[in-house]
Order: sequence, then structure tokens, then C-alpha cells
Amino acid sequence: MIEANNPNLKTWIEVDDDSDFPVQNIPFGIFKTKKLTPRPATRIGNTVVDLQTLADFGYFNHTNIDTSVFSKQFLNGFIALGKPIWREVRNRLSELFNIDNPELRDNIKAKQSILHRINKVEMLMPVKIGDYTDFYSSYEHAKNVGMMFRKPDNAVLPNWRHLPVAYHGRSSSIVISGTNIYRPKGQIKVEENVFPEFGETKSLDFELEMAFITGKKTELGEVINIQKAEDYIFGLVIFNDLSARDIQKWEYVPLGPFLGKNFGSVISPWIVTLDALEPYKTEGPAQNPKILPYLQIDGNNNYDINLEVYLQPEDEKESQISASNMKYLYWNMPQQLAHHTVNGCNINIGDLCASGTISGPTPESYGSMLELAWKGTKPIQLTDGSVRKFVNDNDTIIMKAYAKNKKIRIGFGEVVTKILPAK
Ligand code: MN
Repeated sequence: MIEANNPNLKTWIEVDDDSDFPVQNIPFGIFKTKKLTPRPATRIGNTVVDLQTLADFGYFNHTNIDTSVFSKQFLNGFIALGKPIWREVRNRLSELFNIDNPELRDNIKAKQSILHRINKVEMLMPVKIGDYTDFYSSYEHAKNVGMMFRKPDNAVLPNWRHLPVAYHGRSSSIVISGTNIYRPKGQIKVEENVFPEFGETKSLDFELEMAFITGKKTELGEVINIQKAEDYIFGLVIFNDLSARDIQKWEYVPLGPFLGKNFGSVISPWIVTLDALEPYKTEGPAQNPKILPYLQIDGNNNYDINLEVYLQPEDEKESQISASNMKYLYWNMPQQLAHHTVNGCNINIGDLCASGTISGPTPESYGSMLELAWKGTKPIQLTDGSVRKFVNDNDTIIMKAYAKNKKIRIGFGEVVTKILPAK
């Protein structure tokens, strides 16, 4: 077992029982304050731990860790140190914050410099994202959208059960939780009309996704063996892939999504490592028909991570509108990465691969407004009495994710995105 994952560990930092960030999590992010420049951190409970200052005080002395990575404004340098170092850092932090360890616990001066309350810091993009790929790995989502955009008998296309379908997206518009997004404009063709018109999207949607950040690079021509694929994944974030369905519907043939997707996608600030999620591995759906050997992998490769979506109209309370789970994904992350590189496509540290909308089998577990309100035919009732077919201006979308077993809850915090009127 990974030492830092030991469910019996206790910390001297105050942590609420329902916190996403027990001492067993130790995620990584980038923060700044009014006085401090952007730098790497971890979080325990509501306490942010400044890794640069922790290193300055000598708490990583006598380790193998090159602490210069803790003075950078992105985690890419830290991630590049490799999996043994990620583990060593998590284990060292786990040891340092152990309830029985006086090293930092009893050093009041050091604690004043190193520890910050979460509400006193600003979280920033944790990685400089290189390339971004969006998969389409939920069978239920593919089926639902296929039924709406095409005919029910043509819903899931013939290739879907043989390969993890994806498109290459744009990384410039991937932003951190808390960033407001303007309602996009574009070409929209109303069904009855022959020609398209130009205007604001009338069907602004979210996509409930999880995304992994790559942690190891490959050379052009190199193929990642599926049995080793996990070694290339640093960790996961929540991913809100905003979508304009009317723009998407008109433009997507034959090359796939473009302007209906690239006006904003939003990630959660803390990258939860694959190591921390190890206890929540679970079986995925049965894959039939049989897949090609390069995609075959034994064992449990899905993750039991609860996913929730809330919609909050301006000055009103939020309403929960979806409850899904990452375990519903038909294609798992090793399969996505093995497929991505099977042609020799190289990956770099800090690439982001999103899962695609994660819809479950029941209507409450659908991961987009398009499906929840079934193309506008079943409007969603919110607790303030209003209804939605899609997302309105000034609505805030909140996504949460957490894994939980009998002992420990490991969470991601949330992704908060407010939609502003078109510019
Ligand atoms: Mn997507």
C-alpha cells in the first residue's frame, strides 16, 4: 500500500469529517496571495500548504526532491520529476502533518509562513496545458446524443464499441474554476430554414467530465503499452466542457466539434493523484464485442467517483440536477491513452485528456442539460420555481466530485462557472 494512503493516519491540521481533503488526499495545485507569487501547494482540510516556503524552511532536506520545482508557477516541472518523486513528496507531506510529528506542528514561526486559510488565497491553473483531447467514452451519453442528433437505429455508430472516439480540442480556453464565461455567438441553422443565421447560442450546455493530466512524455513513434498506461497519468481534475448545442449541431459534420466547444472549458484547481484514488478502483462495464488486443487490460480500471451537478440562478439557492459516477465510463483511462498513442502520436507532460460527458443509465444521472431536459422536451424544475431547458445568462454551474469508502472520502472540491451575457 502507498504509505500516504493509510486510512488510519491522523493529522494535527483541523479537518472536517465531510472534507474532500483529508490527510490521505494530498492533491497538488497552484495558488497565490496578495503578497506571494504563484506557487505549488497541497491542501489539507481548509488549509493550503505552501510547498516553496516549506522547502525554504528545510522540510524537504534529506529527500531526493529537487525543490526548485516548488518556485514555479505551474506544476509541470514537479510532474516531470516522475512518479517516484510524486510518491516521495506525498509521503513526506503525510509524515510532516502526522498528528504525532512535532517537526512543523510545534514550529509556530514556520507554520505562520507556510499555512494559509483556503479563503485567503486565489487558486490558479495548476498546469500549463499542452495538448487537449476530449474523448467520448460514456456509452449512455453517446447513445442519448446519437438518438437526438440522428435516428435511434443509428444512435451509436459502428466504430464506437471498437475504439475510444475522441477529437483534438483547444487548450487556450481551458480555464480555472471561478472564471466567468461569456455566452458564445455563432452560426446556427434552425431546422425549418434552408440557410443558417448568426446569433447567440440558445442552447448553452455543460458537459460533466473528468480529465487526466499526463505525467510522462513519449517520443514520436513510441506507443504506450496499455499495461503501463497508468504510469503516464499524474492525476485527475473535474472538467466542465461548456458546449453550444445549436452551433455544434450545424458545424460538426464531418470533422467534429469546433466553435460549439472551444469558447471555454473549466477545471477544478486541485489535481488529485492517481495514487490517492487507488483505493477506489472498480470494475467497468463489460465490453462487447471483444476489443482488439492493444486495448485489452485486466483488473479494475474504472474509478468509483461520485459526480454531482448543481445549477444556481442569480441570487437564488442552487438545485442539484445530476448525480452520476465516473465508473459508468465504457472506455477507461489506460484504454484512452493506449489508443491515443497506438499510431505513434507523442504526448507531453501536462497534456489534458477529458473523458467526455459521463452519463449514467438513469435520467437523473445524465451529464448534460441536452440529456437531462431531453433536447428541451422535458424542462428541468429548479427549487426557486423556475425551469430550464439549457443554461441561462447569470446562471452558475457547480460540479463536485468525490470518492468515498467506509473509511475515507477523497474529493476534488468543485468547479464553479458563471455564464455571462454575450459580449
Ligand atoms: Mn466534451
